[in-house]
Amino acid sequence: MLRIGLGRDLHRLAPGRRFLLAGVEIPCEKGEIGHSDADALAHAVIDATLGAAGAGDVGELFPDTDPAYKGADSMFLLKRAFGRVKIGGWRVVNLDCVVTCETPKILPYREKIRAALADALEADAGAIMVKGKTNEGLDALGQGGAVEALAVCLLESI
Ligand code: MG
Repeated sequence: MLRIGLGRDLHRLAPGRRFLLAGVEIPCEKGEIGHSDADALAHAVIDATLGAAGAGDVGELFPDTDPAYKGADSMFLLKRAFGRVKIGGWRVVNLDCVVTCETPKILPYREKIRAALADALEADAGAIMVKGKTNEGLDALGQGGAVEALAVCLLESI
């Protein structure tokens, strides 16, 4: 059996924070604001995998009101969430992601991001894709005020 899941996340950007995508730090004058490390791509991927497995969502598993998750490493949270997916008897067929932000450019970091996601999801990096987009200067995304991540994940029952 195959099941598909969709995840989406957005974080505001501000100076003095790290810009993280799937745990890969990208040099940038602004970074994501949030309760955890605010890694928007990791959060979107958590929701895509949990969604496909029918196993909950990121806010339910790791509430941003829980002091335990203050400054949390979101790739560690992804591995924990994926543990639930595996217990349900699923493996990743492929994952496809879009990250929208005005800066920084994603392409130079894409292979590191794919490898990090592949490691967390116990998948081949070839089954994982990440594309960077701008928002053509429009809205908060286009004015450098936020980063948005979208992810779709296909799971196959083991
Ligand atoms: Mg988030």
